[in-house]
Amino acid sequence: MSGFREAIIDTDAMTHNIRHIAALVNVDHLIAVVKADGYGHGAVPAARAALAGGADWLATADLREATELRDAGLTAPLLCWLHAPDTDFRLARERNIDVGISSLDQLEQVADAVGNGPAYVHLKLETGLSRNGIDPSDWQATFARAAELEHAGRLSVRGIFSHLSNASDADDLAAAEEFARGVRLAKDTGLRPQLVHLAATAAAIRLPETRFNTVRIGIGLYGLSPFDDASSRDLGLIPAMTLRASVAAVRRVPAGKGVSYSYTYRAPHETSLALVPLGYADGIPRQASNAGRVSIGGELYTVAGRIAMDQFVVAVGDAAVAPGDDVVIFGDAAHGAPSATDWAIAAGTINYEIVTRIGSRVSRVYRSAS
Ligand SMILES: *Cc1c(COP(=O)(O)O)cnc(C)c1O
Repeated sequence: MSGFREAIIDTDAMTHNIRHIAALVNVDHLIAVVKADGYGHGAVPAARAALAGGADWLATADLREATELRDAGLTAPLLCWLHAPDTDFRLARERNIDVGISSLDQLEQVADAVGNGPAYVHLKLETGLSRNGIDPSDWQATFARAAELEHAGRLSVRGIFSHLSNASDADDLAAAEEFARGVRLAKDTGLRPQLVHLAATAAAIRLPETRFNTVRIGIGLYGLSPFDDASSRDLGLIPAMTLRASVAAVRRVPAGKGVSYSYTYRAPHETSLALVPLGYADGIPRQASNAGRVSIGGELYTVAGRIAMDQFVVAVGDAAVAPGDDVVIFGDAAHGAPSATDWAIAAGTINYEIVTRIGSRVSRVYRSAS
């Protein structure tokens, strides 16, 4: 290990994670969610790793993210579902990208944009999250219009989907029932969606009733747990990202010495301080000041003082830490590293945010055993 600051991405881990989840859920289709640059892991390598593990679909939030996957040569079926009002849906047709539809207006817009079509769409139903999604009061009209456009050859309803709140099992099961009602109505209206999908990672793992015939897997692909009460290892997942750096400088300070901005930390006794060249510009949450922990030489040390834009300090006591030594900020807890979840707890957030915000200054280095 040598780079100044880098995120090492284990592509085999991602392949393993998808293979593992696919075996567990046992459904017809698995959509790997690689939005937000594959949750910070790199969308293209994440997509390739997921496909190698048995995913047969890919998804992103928006059309631009989807076209970037096409530009990279990925030809797998691909869905995106969050569209600006002025999205040019012709691009979706040209690049063979399916689009999620959240309203009757959007359905018309897509049908108009593609002309002779067909445009491949997945109807997104509102079932409780109150974000995008076709309102239940519009289901009947939207399904009827979709069926009409389908008959005219302008549209093909390839999927029907929704998304869960994870508020509680009871809430999610209620949403699943509402979704099932929508699916029945769509079928009664003559639609034959090939993919019926509701569950993301959490529900796919713990609520079999929500699996229908397809699941969408994001966080699980990256080997992180969506649950507070289960670790990656508990779920049989391997965290794919290890964030590491090299110690930039070491200094010895006496008891009482203030450290970093505002002196929110004062050395309780004489100690060595190691400087880590990562800061909030790189996605290290400033909220984790005086709380996040890193591993140096197999020992855990806590951040001392404020995390700054480019750097933070850890107090290492009398340990023989030297410039250039390897610092693991987070990685696979099964190998003794702090986890992204540990950092999330230290910062009052979720592991999704920790990996997704790792900045562009951190080089991604891809490792695979094979
Ligand atoms: C991000 C997202 C997912 C993936 O969720 P995970 O919890 O990361 O598995 C699935 N579906 C939708 C609609 C999403 O926005």
